[in-house]
Amino acid sequence: MLESLRNIVHEVDTARSFKSALDTLVVSVRQTLNTDVCSIYLVDRQSKDYVFTATEGLNKEALGKTRLGQSEGLVSLVGIKAEPVNLEDAYRHPSFHFIPEVGEEPYHAFLGVPVIHHRRLLGVLVVQQSEIRRFDENEEAFMVTLSAQLASVIANAEATGDISHLGEVEYDHLDAEFTGIPGAPGFVIGTAVVIHPAANLDRVPDKIVQDVTQELQIFDKALEDVRADIRRVSSQLSASLPKEELALFDAYLHMLDDNALGDEIRKVIREGQWAQGSVRVVIQSHVRKFEQMKDSYLRERAADVRELGQRILANLQAIRQTKTHYPNDTILVGEEISPSMMASVPGGKLKGIVSLRGSGNSHVAILARAMDVPTVMGAIDIPLYSVEHHSIIVDGYYGHVYANPTPARMEHYRKLQEEEKGFISETEILKNKPAVTLDGHRIRLWANVGFSGDLERSLDRGAEGIGLFRTEVPFMTSERFPTEEEQRRIYREHMKAFSPRPVTMRTLDIGGDKVLSYFPIVEENPFLGWRGIRVTLDHPELFIVQARAMIKANAGLKGDLRIMLPMVSKVSEIEEGKELVARAYREVKEEGFEVAEPLVGVMIEVPAAVYQARHMAKITDFLAVGSNDLTQYMLAVDRNNPRVADLYKDLHPAVLAALREVSKAAHVENKAVGICGELAGTAIGSILLVGMGYDVLSMNATNLPRIKWVLRNISLRHARLMLSRVLRMQDTESIVDYMQGELIKAGLERVVARHSSN
Ligand code: PEP
Ligand code: MG
Repeated sequence: MLESLRNIVHEVDTARSFKSALDTLVVSVRQTLNTDVCSIYLVDRQSKDYVFTATEGLNKEALGKTRLGQSEGLVSLVGIKAEPVNLEDAYRHPSFHFIPEVGEEPYHAFLGVPVIHHRRLLGVLVVQQSEIRRFDENEEAFMVTLSAQLASVIANAEATGDISHLGEVEYDHLDAEFTGIPGAPGFVIGTAVVIHPAANLDRVPDKIVQDVTQELQIFDKALEDVRADIRRVSSQLSASLPKEELALFDAYLHMLDDNALGDEIRKVIREGQWAQGSVRVVIQSHVRKFEQMKDSYLRERAADVRELGQRILANLQAIRQTKTHYPNDTILVGEEISPSMMASVPGGKLKGIVSLRGSGNSHVAILARAMDVPTVMGAIDIPLYSVEHHSIIVDGYYGHVYANPTPARMEHYRKLQEEEKGFISETEILKNKPAVTLDGHRIRLWANVGFSGDLERSLDRGAEGIGLFRTEVPFMTSERFPTEEEQRRIYREHMKAFSPRPVTMRTLDIGGDKVLSYFPIVEENPFLGWRGIRVTLDHPELFIVQARAMIKANAGLKGDLRIMLPMVSKVSEIEEGKELVARAYREVKEEGFEVAEPLVGVMIEVPAAVYQARHMAKITDFLAVGSNDLTQYMLAVDRNNPRVADLYKDLHPAVLAALREVSKAAHVENKAVGICGELAGTAIGSILLVGMGYDVLSMNATNLPRIKWVLRNISLRHARLMLSRVLRMQDTESIVDYMQGELIKAGLERVVARHSSN
């Protein structure tokens, strides 16, 4: 049975479509367990009915048509109990519900197991037999194991929209609601433009097309591009490669000939399959054939065929992408939206983002917040293909998305948008006013910058300094490491614009989810790997060049240059970093520049640094908490992973306790302490941080006026009181509830719905 289990899992995994995966599964399960019937009932996300979706043994005519209500029959009993129901005679059970059209009269034994993904019931997998008998322990374990496998297949099909062909209600006219994670605040109503992930042969879904001629034209163009590409590479390498190796290119060209792969793919297109799907079908079938060959040389040719398929696919995608039409109210929707996808939308047209992957702390979300683009992340349930070109609403405060909203829903959101605009213009009046509490306590509100437009926005919104310059951004948008002079120019622009206000420059913070195309770091656990200062201390040549560029950029200006070290987990890293900064300073001075010695501070982002914060404060000029990373490391929750996004809480009592300790430690050493994580830009977070004594709150410019408004409307005394209550609470929910209540009592209800971080 174990061998069969492995085979079924493999077959289902490599099935060419969702439908064939389900069909394969029911056939194989029936065979393996030697039962009379195996069926799958999927939960319709809108009506919550169970849709009879696949069967081997019952009446296939009823597939997609027969539905069971939420509390109808044994199938729903499995769903309600969320555990296997194993009955020797289904007829005798009180929940048994007879449905004549499926033809289950002869069957007595019943075993149903729930299919659950991320706590959500997706369906029920059932086997039935005419004999009166109880399925044994092994059979039950087999079914439970398969249902876990089936869960990810279904979830994936939902994400790609494949599932909508199987009897589920389509999303047209439905006001379908999907929930994700708040990524960037704001409401927007716009048109969904689905942007496809980079070509991946195994994940191309089936799609039936009407215009076969157009599909053939696109395919021919892609094929010709691949051919031209191969010819070009071959001629470029002809001088340096031996003849035998060059022959590989000829072999590729032969494979693409009209009477070989090309023609086979065209045949599938003519049957109505779209070009990408046809490439997948043909290539996968050849790959399978090659892989099964005895001869090892021929077996290895599978990789060549796959490589060719991948190339055609990439070209097809490129052709389609150039054709993407971006309306003026574009809402970019995709499996994993990247900064470059955002950049591909023409200026001013990007109004919202919905990403199926990632979470509120992914860098795309941080970028979206900086650009003021309402965003929902981790909306894993959205059927991409069904929402394409449809009207959708993005609620970036609550993480909700509505597809094909009703007029009433639209009206509601239009009103909210109006209110929002009014509030924004009200807070923007405060631009030149200080952030001072009702009882006269002054707080510095600085800006996080790095992305294009940040500088202008932060000046516009009255930032009193730069609390975090994410220097990795210019590195990420470059094709190679930027030179000292290139860096100096970018840094200088910011320092000059902000002078005489302080500017905090973070040394290069790559690793984790921040990758440089020209300096790949491939690791099993990138967030626990070679990140931040670990990389730059291992490459002092990078560190020194950057520090020199920063110091030179500040020449002749009055503002403090503050150099900040990220991802520090031990004291010696600070000592080494300080030494390198001192060396860079000496060198620049020796070269004759009139420069001031920079301040050096450390980011507290790792729990170890919390416990050594006092010593770290003693040996540096300032501390700045990176609460985004500190939260992920304290709670052991990957900030990028939507699966655990609901565990990521920067208002977790443990995180708040750590933040308070850091503030105390800095002040005992008479050093200033700031925070530049996202928590600082939230209403609740900012109040608690002020209560803890944080001197500087640094945030994206979008949030700055709102936070200034909040802080100008409370007293330090009240903030401290709230903090003392909160520090006695044991869970985030109580903290949020209590704080929201206090905000309402203080007349600040306008920001209550706007706490997007938790
Ligand atoms: C942080 O970790 O809180 C921080 C500000 O740095 P980043 O988000 O760039 O990792
Ligand atoms: Mg960080």
